Amino acid sequence: MTKTWSSGEEEDAKCQNCGSVYSVIIYRIPTRDNDTFNCTVCGHEMRSWNDTRIPEFTLKSAGKIPSE
Ligand SMILES: [Zn+2]
Repeated sequence: MTKTWSSGEEEDAKCQNCGSVYSVIIYRIPTRDNDTFNCTVCGHEMRSWNDTRIPEFTLKSAGKIPSE
């Protein structure tokens, strides 16, 4: 059996600021979307896009906000 390439999932994304880990699923939408995703734990901008393929992030593991 041949396993076909799945277009729906990406590798997990990690916040560069606090280390939270998100699972990423890519959706195709009919119209272009221009948006950003900010880490829900620390607010760091993790990704921006202007595309018909948009990522959805699901928090898997919350990191620690670096203290200043
Ligand atoms: Zn973060």
